This record gives sequence, structure tokens and C-alpha cells, in this order.
Amino acid sequence: MDQHDVIIIGGGIVGSALACALGESGVRVALVEAREPDLRIGTDPRVYAITRASEQIFRSLGVWDAMAAQPVCAFTDMEVWDAGGDGVLHFDCAELAEPHLGHIIEPGVILAALVEKLQALESVERFCPARFEHIHIDDDQAEVTLADGRHLTAQLLAAADGARSPVREQLGIEVRRHAYHQTSLVARVKTTLPHAATAWQRFLPGGPLAFLPLADGWCSIVWTLPEADVERIRALDRDSFHAELGAAFDHRLGRITDSGERESWPLVRQHAVTYVQARVALLGDAAHAIHPLAGQGVNLGLLDAAVLAGVVLADRALGRDIGRMRTLRQYERWRRSDNQLMMMAMDGINRLFSNANLPAGRVRNAGLSLVGRATPVRHALMRHAMGIAGDLPPLARPS
Ligand SMILES: Cc1cc2nc3c(=O)[nH]c(=O)nc-3n(C[C@H](O)[C@H](O)[C@H](O)COP(=O)(O)OP(=O)(O)OC[C@H]3O[C@@H](n4cnc5c(N)ncnc54)[C@H](O)[C@@H]3O)c2cc1C
Repeated sequence: MDQHDVIIIGGGIVGSALACALGESGVRVALVEAREPDLRIGTDPRVYAITRASEQIFRSLGVWDAMAAQPVCAFTDMEVWDAGGDGVLHFDCAELAEPHLGHIIEPGVILAALVEKLQALESVERFCPARFEHIHIDDDQAEVTLADGRHLTAQLLAAADGARSPVREQLGIEVRRHAYHQTSLVARVKTTLPHAATAWQRFLPGGPLAFLPLADGWCSIVWTLPEADVERIRALDRDSFHAELGAAFDHRLGRITDSGERESWPLVRQHAVTYVQARVALLGDAAHAIHPLAGQGVNLGLLDAAVLAGVVLADRALGRDIGRMRTLRQYERWRRSDNQLMMMAMDGINRLFSNANLPAGRVRNAGLSLVGRATPVRHALMRHAMGIAGDLPPLARPS
């Protein structure tokens, strides 16, 4: 029987960040991850837009410098426009006297920095590759049995095991799920014009198409398509793919001259009806999955980790039981409402823009032009996109 303070199931970015935040303060953590992470650089077609708040969390955890030493791309501008009109929204970090709006980073770069840090933390024990078989919760502790027969116990079990969360399933925590009937196709592409350190997004009736800038001058695209179109576009030969993608993007960055592997993800919105039960907390995609149109999923998960670590450390410092419902409810109250708001905003934007209906087109074009001209509204939106609006946990606040 291995005794810890916290067992974390799922060593993706969110679970690993939580393990770092707790392990730094001497909390005895068991981190259980099913797969050895792929830490190669330049191979993953998916990249993440990382907000300033997430950057600050990584700085607080002491892992930012290791990430920044890799080929990451700071973006200074964002441009959003609608295929059905002339409304344009442009964000420029200089307006807020900020050096950038965020970074585009590969998951492997983030995970490599977190794993390196975890290996240096004596109070964190990483079980990888390892799967849990069974969970038993009683009044005093959570007990996890791994597939190889080992038993782990702790005051708190944190589930960061992704959108399909086997922990959530085993504990019978329900989710509200909505299928968007859209799929995001992701690939790296080379364009004839420079990306200008700008995150570009064009709204098409089938869904948004984003071009995210990469450090090597290429872009990573996230092309959200109606389910019925995905297989056809995935199967196109390179020249036809380049031509169709270039046209969908209105040739804003010239011609597409090269591209890498194409991958696709069906999109769902999903929210757990509760994030907590006695001795258990869900976080990251295990608690919520949202539309990727604003690139917020992992950023929300990192804020979950920062808030959960904050309430656990505060109670631990007072000698309290960190698995009690009062502690966990604080976490849930703080994060569930924020995540719900972001989900609703993404849903509303997706519904308004992924829509060929003429009145909706007029509303969104008028809206884009209006917001584009209204400086205070634009600045408020920029702060939200950067993750620096609202009540931030200490780990996400600039020191
Ligand atoms: C197309 C697309 C683009 C996106 N772009 C962005 C973006 O730009 N910015 C952004 O912030 N977000 C983005 N997201 C969202 C982002 O991918 C997710 O929010 C993020 O991966 C969630 O991280 P997580 O650690 O919670 O879960 P995951 O990354 O799913 O990690 C869960 C971990 O749990 C492990 N696990 C599962 N089951 C078990 C088990 N039984 N035992 C042990 N371990 C287990 C898995 O192996 C995995 O490592 C995007 C999503 C999509 C689909």
C-alpha cells in the first residue's frame, strides 16, 4: 500500500501541471499516466494557443524558461473576419502596451518541460505507463488499484484523465453532452506570404478556419468542417487540398505550397454535472470539453489546476483534511461558473457564425464592425482572449 496525499490520474498537460504545483510545496503526489508522452518536436500536427494566464502559471511552476527555449511562436496580433461580409476584428497587443497576446506551442514542448520538472520533485512519484483498475472511496481516503496490482491511497483523488475520463465513468459522474456535428481538421501548412506573427481566423458557414503562426514560418491550421465534408477533404491529394484550403482562407497568406500530415477531431461540448464529490475532483477535459474555436481548452484546464492547487495548499497549511467537501466546493464554485461562461460564449459564436442564414450574417458583420470600432469593448475582448480578465488564482497572477 503506497500512501500519498493526492493521487492524480492522467498525466497530460493539466494533470502534470497540478502535480508540479502540489509537488513544489512538498505535497506527496502519485501521478498515474497510461502512456509515455510523445515529446518529439515538429511531429504533432496539433498546437496550442497558450494564453498569458497560462504562461504565468508555467512561470510560477518554473517551467516557462524550458518551454521558451524551444521553437515556440509569440503572436502579437489576431485577425478575425467573416466569409459572408466585410466585418473585420483586429487585435494588436501594442494597444494594451503588451509584448504579445500569447504563444503557439506544441503539446510535446509543454509536456517535456513539465515532465522534466516532475522528475526533479522528490515528493512526486510518477507511475507511467500505468492504468488504474479500480477506485474505492471511503470516509477517510481514496484508494486506487493499478492494473499491475499496486494499491495507492490518498486523502484526495484528482481526475485529469481527459474528455472520456475513465475515473468519471467509474464513479458514475454524469456529463451533459452536445455533439456539434463538426470536425476539426488539423495540419501544418506552408504559405507564400509570411504569417506576420498573427493568429488568423476566417468564419465560414461550415465552421471557423484558423491559421496559427509557427516559429519556423509555417502555420498550423484548425479547419472546422461539417461532419459530412471531413473525409473528402482529408482524402484530397496535396495540390487539391492546397487549392481548396487556399480558397477557403481567401488566399490571405497567398498560396499554400506545402503541407504535413492531416488529423481530425470530432467536436463535442461536454460538462460534468459536478466537478467534485467526497475525496474526488475532476479537472481539465475530464470536467469540461469546449469548441476549439478560441483555443481555450487547455488554458481553462490549467486554471482549474491552479485553483485546485491553491485551495488544497491553503487547507493543508491550516492542517485540514484536503479531501473534505468544503475544500473541494471552493474549487468547484470558482471554476465551474467561469468554464460555463466560456462554453456558452463559444457556443453562441459558433452558432452565429456557422450559419448561412442572411439575417444572422447581417448581425455578425454589423457586430464585428461595431466591436472593431469600439475600443473599450475590443480591449475587454483582448483581455479575455489573453486570459487576464476576471478573478485569477495566485499562480496565474504576475508576480
Ligand atoms: C482540434 C483541437 C484544437 C485545440 N486547440 C487548443 C488550443 O489552441 N488551445 C487550448 O487551450 N486548447 C486547445 N484544444 C483543447 C485541448 O486539446 C484540451 O483541452 C487538452 O488536451 C485537455 O488537456 P487534459 O490534460 O485535461 O486532457 P488530455 O490531454 O486528454 O490528457 C489526459 C491524459 O490522461 C491519460 N489517461 C486517460 N485514461 C487514463 C487511465 N485510465 N489511466 C491513466 N491515465 C489515463 C491520457 O493518456 C492523457 O495523457 C484543442 C482541441 C482540439 C480538438
